[in-house]
Amino acid sequence: MYDHRRLGRELGLFGSDPLIGSGLPYWLPDGATVRHTLEEYVRDAERRAGYQHVYSPVLGKRELYELSGHWSHYNEDMFPPMDLGGEQVVLRPSLCPHHAVIYRSRAHSYRELPLRMAELGGMYRAELSGVLGGLSRVRAIQLNDAHIFCTLDQAADEAQAALGMIRRAYEALGIRPSRYRLSLPGPGGKYVAAPEMWERSTTLLAEVLDRSGLPYEEGEGEAAFYGPKIDVQVADSAGRESTLSTVQIDFHQPERFDLHYIGPDGARHRPVMVHRSVIGSVERAVAHLIEEHGGAFPAWFAPTQLVILPISDSEVAAAEAVAERCARLGLRARLAGPERGSLGARIREDRRVPYQAVIGAKEAADGHVALRLRDGRRLDPRPADAALRRIGALVGAHRTELWECGEVGIW
Ligand SMILES: [Zn+2]
Repeated sequence: MYDHRRLGRELGLFGSDPLIGSGLPYWLPDGATVRHTLEEYVRDAERRAGYQHVYSPVLGKRELYELSGHWSHYNEDMFPPMDLGGEQVVLRPSLCPHHAVIYRSRAHSYRELPLRMAELGGMYRAELSGVLGGLSRVRAIQLNDAHIFCTLDQAADEAQAALGMIRRAYEALGIRPSRYRLSLPGPGGKYVAAPEMWERSTTLLAEVLDRSGLPYEEGEGEAAFYGPKIDVQVADSAGRESTLSTVQIDFHQPERFDLHYIGPDGARHRPVMVHRSVIGSVERAVAHLIEEHGGAFPAWFAPTQLVILPISDSEVAAAEAVAERCARLGLRARLAGPERGSLGARIREDRRVPYQAVIGAKEAADGHVALRLRDGRRLDPRPADAALRRIGALVGAHRTELWECGEVGIW
């Protein structure tokens, strides 16, 4: 595996500057393209799964986090509060309290449940500068988060569906989890005291893992302060494990925020909150994807999907026509002309690009391209339109294969 910090700079994906500060990377255009594509994939998957998206501010009053319990249990990881005209505001350490308040902003009937609220939003963690580097540990985090407000009877199914979403996303992204972990409280940690609640949510999560048929280990001392969680672990280039995705069942925050819904009996009932994240923080996900793929990303989220290589100046016009067709199809293509060196040198330079379309005199005359795939395969010249439509279909289906269409019946 590769070190994402070195490769990320080499590929021009992100950078940092001491003047902005450590743990505060910026995204360069190719990195921003990868990130947009990833965020759009997640939003789309969530829309299809019945989630509704919201936006909420990255700041909140200190009282919000006192109510959620972050202030007493999670204070060390939070930035110090800012004094503002007699009140204190805090950079949020999680999105849950805002979503609980949004849920509370109007009455809900049991018919609306499960209510799935999602947001790709900013949050902050006061990491010490010594542990920062690249994208895997940052102070400003963009989190793919969601909270499902549901009845107790619905909680296990919702958690299981969330786990299914995570597994589908990993397949499309080419991520291999290193293990699944049932994260439990441990000695000495700051946890909310409610033994019965912990027991109930732990049993539910263990059932979800068993039903999914996934092997897992228990991790003591790895729970959130308000409850146990299922963590999907990945390993980095140095073999260090970190959590990318999580599913949690929470009885604590609905209680703290006095959330309720009106049941079929006309009475008020307390919902359960399922917290879940498909790809975790966008920063950590991209760091992992860089290492997992060595910068050779699956075509659907590669910054450049196709490079067009006219052999000589005579084929540049034909190459430009292919580039235009790519733009119309929504493919991210780039033309690398003869002024950039010999064909061999240009092929080597763009070796991480999934597709290379070589255009010589014969191809230009016939409206063809000769495709080279990143894995070394060279395909016979074929009509440019058909080749681009097939690439477009593979990209649209989030396939990791470069040419095989397989059972999705694209072709
Ligand atoms: Zn949450």
